[in-house]
Amino acid sequence: MAYIALYRQWRPQDFEQLVGQEHISTTLKNAITSNRIAHAYLFSGPRGTGKTSTAKIMAKALNCLQGPTIHPCNACDSCKRIIDGSSMDVLEIDAASNRGIDEIRELREKVKFTPVDGRYKVYIIDEVHMLTTEAFNALLKTLEEPPAHAIFILATTEPHKIPATILSRCQRYDFRRIDSEAISGRLLKVLQEMSIEAEPEALGVIARFAEGGLRDALSILDQCIAFSGDRITVEDVRSMLGLAGDEWLEHMRGALLQRDVAAALGYVQELISLGKDARQVILELLVLFRDRLVESSAVTPAQESGCVEDGMEIMQLLSDAAQEAKWAPYPRIVLEVAVIRICRRGSAQDMAGLAARLEKLEAMLANKMIVQPAHRSPDRAGRAESIPPAPAIPASPPVTPAPPSTAADNKQNSIPPKAEPPQHLEELGERILAELLKHNKRAIHTCLSEGRLLELNGEQAVFGFQLAIYKERIEKDDYRGFLEKLVSQMTGEQRHIKCRLVSDTAGEGPGAPPVEATAEDAVVRHAKEMFGEKVVTIVNNNKGEEK
Ligand SMILES: [Zn+2]
Repeated sequence: MAYIALYRQWRPQDFEQLVGQEHISTTLKNAITSNRIAHAYLFSGPRGTGKTSTAKIMAKALNCLQGPTIHPCNACDSCKRIIDGSSMDVLEIDAASNRGIDEIRELREKVKFTPVDGRYKVYIIDEVHMLTTEAFNALLKTLEEPPAHAIFILATTEPHKIPATILSRCQRYDFRRIDSEAISGRLLKVLQEMSIEAEPEALGVIARFAEGGLRDALSILDQCIAFSGDRITVEDVRSMLGLAGDEWLEHMRGALLQRDVAAALGYVQELISLGKDARQVILELLVLFRDRLVESSAVTPAQESGCVEDGMEIMQLLSDAAQEAKWAPYPRIVLEVAVIRICRRGSAQDMAGLAARLEKLEAMLANKMIVQPAHRSPDRAGRAESIPPAPAIPASPPVTPAPPSTAADNKQNSIPPKAEPPQHLEELGERILAELLKHNKRAIHTCLSEGRLLELNGEQAVFGFQLAIYKERIEKDDYRGFLEKLVSQMTGEQRHIKCRLVSDTAGEGPGAPPVEATAEDAVVRHAKEMFGEKVVTIVNNNKGEEK
């Protein structure tokens, strides 16, 4: 007798044998018991999770000579014919190979005839999403007015490709991926029947590799039995599936975490020379980092999340590589590039960015030449966004004494009363920008970023722009209207928005302080923008010592 593949030998024959889909078998059993059979069912879910098996169990349950029953006998003529595929009343159509309208037309012709020896005619259309549009239309006509004896069971792995008109006429059942334990349990049962031993971890590896599909798991088990005989070890399974193995994975993980490129590339070389599949290795690494990340985020407090961030960055890089490797002609190269990227993560960009900012600041200090940036960097905008909403501030200057900075003193003395001191204005300007982002007013934010809040007096807020295009845009009713509302709300007083063209926003303002002081002040401001207050303080101290 010819060998029958394990997954066919062990195909579930009644609802009790269905693994991992209890939510579906219970509902279907209730429908049969209460005689509420729908005319069309849609079984959707990943491959190998029991869709067509369930459809056949359903067909047997309805047509069994002892039935309709939730326990088909599997012994009567009707059941036997359905099992061996010779029943005239249960017709399986594989839409993947019969996509055309002809098959569906034939179905429409024959569906009218009453069943030959059962109660129902059951049409099982597998991979139904593969039907052409014309075929779907023909099927729809049948589904609209099905004969009383007809039942359609549509199975698919891609339900989103099925027209809504069809979906709305079906009872839908979503098959889940079967969890690893349930698959392992089933595999163990099969092996016990066959008197074959296996290390428990070996079954775990098969179950995880099958990704929730029992049919795939049984096919792999079939190969393992052929490979190892009557005792299956975890090593056998790994080498048969081309998997890397725990020891290798741990070494690789260590090298990646320590950014040891040479060691990591050495491990890749070692693995490839053993004939392992680079695509599979990337997935294994991804799963390993994911497991560790989940473990560590469960025990690490949020404020010590450094290693979690690091793990997430590594996972992102591995995930990109997995995607890329799918279609790459040389997946090994994808793996190697990913390894190098992971070892250089973070550092390269950060250092380059820092060097560029330092250079810029050095140039500015050397020339004392300040140029207003053409636009604010996204980095800064992002920072502004994270500022929490502050309470409305009064328009009058704060009662607290001004900070003992000479540059600030100069400015404050030269500005008439009832106006805001410059630091205050700048801070308010930043907060307005942040609020705009919070309200998702990105267009207004972009225009206003090009200007600067110059003045805030009893009735108005004055913004200065170097370019007329931004000034004019802000002056239009829609932008101005929103800004007036926002600024009034933030300052607690009704204010109009006024815009003004300025040649250099840094030196603007009545009675501007001497050029030297302005330049110094602007340098400090730019430094603050780039490095935060702390660094600026250190620079000032150094200067003080030099003098
Ligand atoms: Zn039967």
